Amino acid sequence: MLPTLESLSEALGGLDGRRILLRADFNVPLGSDGAIADDFRIKAALPTIRWLAGQGAAVVACSHLGRPGGAPDPRYSMAPVQARLGELAPGVELLENLRFDSGETGNDDRLVQQLVDGCHGYVNDAFGASHRAHASIVGPPGYLPSAAGRLLAKEAEVLLGLRSKPKRPFVAVLGGAKVSDKLGVIDALLETADEVVIGGGMCFTFLAALGHSVGDSLLQADQIEACGRLLQSGAPIRLPSDITALAPGEHVVQAGVELRPDWRGLDIGPGTAAEFSDLIAEAGTVLWNGPMGLFEDPRFAAGTKVVAQALADSRAFTVVGGGDSAAAVRQFGLDREMDHVSTGGGASLELIEQGDLPGLRALRESVGTREEDSNG
Ligand code: ADP
Ligand code: MG
Repeated sequence: MLPTLESLSEALGGLDGRRILLRADFNVPLGSDGAIADDFRIKAALPTIRWLAGQGAAVVACSHLGRPGGAPDPRYSMAPVQARLGELAPGVELLENLRFDSGETGNDDRLVQQLVDGCHGYVNDAFGASHRAHASIVGPPGYLPSAAGRLLAKEAEVLLGLRSKPKRPFVAVLGGAKVSDKLGVIDALLETADEVVIGGGMCFTFLAALGHSVGDSLLQADQIEACGRLLQSGAPIRLPSDITALAPGEHVVQAGVELRPDWRGLDIGPGTAAEFSDLIAEAGTVLWNGPMGLFEDPRFAAGTKVVAQALADSRAFTVVGGGDSAAAVRQFGLDREMDHVSTGGGASLELIEQGDLPGLRALRESVGTREEDSNG
């Protein structure tokens, strides 16, 4: 069980006038003009911020933004986030980009002490960063009574629920570019899912393992053996039966699963999209991670769109995890039709795979709940 905001308030004898360090995930996508391209991560932290403020706490928020590499870099200043946060939640203090200090990724205790100085409690709501043992994630619970924010608590509940008590049948739909990124999660899902459905670039390594010719499609030759082993184990893995490919001369062609050498498979075909949709329609729970094709190109977005719509229409409990899949769902305007769209890419996969994260562990092991244990 993760400590809740309520338990933190109890530990501190109320939050009125208390300074609470809030680690949020304000790692927003920035446009080429340096402006915020999507503020969903800021909005996702509002329930926690508003609850804390409503209890009279002074909220000191902190986050990383981009990869400035351990030194100040004006391109990654928190200023645009500060401006948007000021509109959405006035009165919240925001520290400068945590990764301007190399101690953040290095989990340096000097930075941890600097962060907790003058604070009475710590709240982690940065789900998207909680798979990292970085200073602001795992450090403060060693010094301050701590709690999971609303977003973090919800993410943990939903994603761990997929492992422990999914409504059946549980269908996992996986795609994306690299099979090597996802083999661990496929393994973990095969423990609980009734069916694992595979599309996206990574289906070609599985198809190659079955002896199909995948042409010029994405292929990870060093993973063919691992994919073959999974298929031979009798695991309930479902692969595409048709492919939309790009042929020389920019021709888009429909094919089965035998591609000519100069064809590149860039989407699941319409037959496969329909088969996957039927499985999704009949499921009790659906987890979707990874686009079904190169959805950034409208010629190869159909498979991803059809699958997203099938989740939206399904009565199943639907969960979308993964940065690019979540972006696709938002781009199609279907995010509100899902039961849960995870704000964490790597973190959601790691939580499903491992059943725990460094940031969650730190909260569970946080210092005593007695007032005397708190700093400052
Ligand atoms: P997520 O972030 O949802 O976990 P990934 O990062 O694993 O997803 O993969 C997303 C990327 O995979 C997208 O940029 C998409 O264009 C690409 N992709 C999906 N299918 C293919 C394909 N058949 N060929 C090339 N790229 C693909
Ligand atoms: Mg991605």
